Amino acid sequence: MTQSDSQNTPEQTVVEFGKKNPFPAEVKQMVNLNGRGSAKETFHVELSLAGSGLDYQTGDIAGVIPINCPEVVADFLQTTGLNGEEEVQRESGKRRLADILSSEVSITSVNLPMMKKYARLANNVSLNALIDSQDRDRINNWLWGREIRDLVAEFPPSLPLETDAVLGILRKMPPRLYSIASSIKAHPDEVHLTVVTVEYDAHGRHRKGVCSTYLCQRIKPGDKVALYTHHNKNFGIPEDGDVPMIMIGPGTGIAPFRAFIEERKATGATGKNWLFFGDQHLQTDFLYQLEWQKYLKNGILTRLDVAFSRDQDYKIYVQDRIKENAAEIYSWLQDGAHFYVCGDANRMAKDVHQALIDIHVEQGGLSAEAAEEAVAELKKTKRYQRDVY
Ligand SMILES: Cc1cc2nc3c(=O)[nH]c(=O)nc-3n(C[C@H](O)[C@H](O)[C@H](O)COP(=O)(O)OP(=O)(O)OC[C@H]3O[C@@H](n4cnc5c(N)ncnc54)[C@H](O)[C@@H]3O)c2cc1C
Repeated sequence: MTQSDSQNTPEQTVVEFGKKNPFPAEVKQMVNLNGRGSAKETFHVELSLAGSGLDYQTGDIAGVIPINCPEVVADFLQTTGLNGEEEVQRESGKRRLADILSSEVSITSVNLPMMKKYARLANNVSLNALIDSQDRDRINNWLWGREIRDLVAEFPPSLPLETDAVLGILRKMPPRLYSIASSIKAHPDEVHLTVVTVEYDAHGRHRKGVCSTYLCQRIKPGDKVALYTHHNKNFGIPEDGDVPMIMIGPGTGIAPFRAFIEERKATGATGKNWLFFGDQHLQTDFLYQLEWQKYLKNGILTRLDVAFSRDQDYKIYVQDRIKENAAEIYSWLQDGAHFYVCGDANRMAKDVHQALIDIHVEQGGLSAEAAEEAVAELKKTKRYQRDVY
């Protein structure tokens, strides 16, 4: 190439997508995995990564930047008395305030520092008294289940609020993380998620989790969702395809194990696979039921044990199924099985952890202390991995 050629060639800029620059992934398909009459709404969401250059491995996570619910944005504007049509100067140029509130900032979550910032604007006697009390329990009780608009409604400002001052209180919209439910080998250029909606009533309002309701209720095929992939170095399938896997994934905890099984099928791995799944009802909440039945039939899934907590008078959870199968689980572990747990961190993961210790006492004849050490060793050698939230 001559010098003049090179000078005339337009500079090629390679766009790199990631956390700082999320990729607008097209929604390809959405399926409600719960049946009619379920108390839950769990969506399987398929997104296209075509052209993104983004890659992932089994066990990795997707970060999604959601868009706020339009009704919540409208109510926020009404409560604060701000005008959504106002043009506001941002780093990237001028934008409508309503657009900024929709996608740039978090308008729901509220914490003590935000409360203090608002108090300086509002000059509201009752709010100042609450903060000055330094009574953390009272303040935390007030904050639990509330949003910024509740703060403004309950402690109105003494003077009208100004746009820049309100924007100064709000945090940048944080991404929400989701376990990736697909193997890229089975679905090239795609990423699948399993998302359950978070919805509850608190303080006289119906509350909607920002990202879960965005993904389950406000997007449709053809829309673009801003996302990136994130490597989860502490959670992944064994490199050796012969190694047996025991996977505990109730509720949306099932997501990464769909990816694990797809990967094992795609790579022709021969290791045994044992899945524990649980939810409320067999009829309506058996997520990916047909896929598991197919995998059982063709031998990819060696065993499937399920626990539907509300199908009988007493509650049954995955941790109960684990205890019932103590001897066999111990035997799999003796054969080198990897033990995985994904889902609820509050109850389930703790109970499963204890069940794993109990299995070592009961089946291995270890003291409680030695059993704890054995489980700690499994963790250290990455044979016991957890992805809990
Ligand atoms: C590593 C990791 C993997 C994850 N994988 C998945 C996954 O595969 N699938 C999935 O669905 N989720 C997953 N999550 C959870 C997900 O990231 C979000 O936290 C979830 O979707 C809720 O986000 P949201 O924006 O809808 O709710 P937000 O708007 O963030 O609101 C949630 C908040 O609402 C409050 N809240 C909730 N319930 C109540 C209540 N009853 N009363 C009062 N306040 C309440 C709590 O403060 C809670 O933090 C994962 C999280 C992590 C960290």
